[in-house]
Amino acid sequence: MRTPIIAGNWKLNKTVDEALALANDLKGQLSDLNDVEIVIAPPFTALAPLAATLTDSPIVLAGQNCYPAEGAYTGEISPALLRDVGCRAVIIGHSERRQLFAEQDDFINQKVKAALAAGLKVIFCIGETLTERNENLTFEVLEKQIRMGLSGLDSAAMTRLTVAYEPVWAIGTGQTASNEQAQEAHHFIRGLLSQLFDRSTAEATRILYGGSVKPDNIDGLMHQADIDGALVGGASLKVGDFIRIARFKRS
Ligand code: PEP
Repeated sequence: MRTPIIAGNWKLNKTVDEALALANDLKGQLSDLNDVEIVIAPPFTALAPLAATLTDSPIVLAGQNCYPAEGAYTGEISPALLRDVGCRAVIIGHSERRQLFAEQDDFINQKVKAALAAGLKVIFCIGETLTERNENLTFEVLEKQIRMGLSGLDSAAMTRLTVAYEPVWAIGTGQTASNEQAQEAHHFIRGLLSQLFDRSTAEATRILYGGSVKPDNIDGLMHQADIDGALVGGASLKVGDFIRIARFKRS
């Protein structure tokens, strides 16, 4: 059995005070939840204060991005510094990084390796655009992103990596993939992981769905055999919505 993960990507939202208020609400209201892993990825400025607040909580703190080197890289953040400030995980390859900041698969691969080497867990994001889906290129795109993004990793490294399937057309649009569309993509991803690594690695890897996950669609998504959790953007900013998502019902 794969332990589900519900992860909140706060993107570029929340002052330190707002972040502390939300994190404290989550910590209090999710303290009894022991069969789901909760991850939150606040903006960099809130990481240190939240780490202090979450020391006695199982909620995992994650960075939203990292750079695969240290030194003269003005404005960037390294995996080691994320760890230093209390992060245990990092999101890599989010579609906003790919689309708005032109991040390519080989660069994303460098980040994945650097983050793992620094001892962080990785939430590795992939997903097709609407044009690619309409041109029946979804599986081709996912395969390329996985082959290149996970190049050089072995099964041991994969135990610290979670895949997030996030169709670009569903992110922040209110248009969720149907349960069937999501399950089809997740099943494809698991099959590919089985080919690239081995069956037990594929069976053990958590594959999250992301793209307009809300309280009213989480249960149906989590009912799918290959969906092991969610990466949540907009709805993770609202305490009630995120708590309901974290308390999804599978049946
Ligand atoms: C995301 O940013 O990863 C995301 C899925 O956003 P939203 O839930 O708002 O679509």
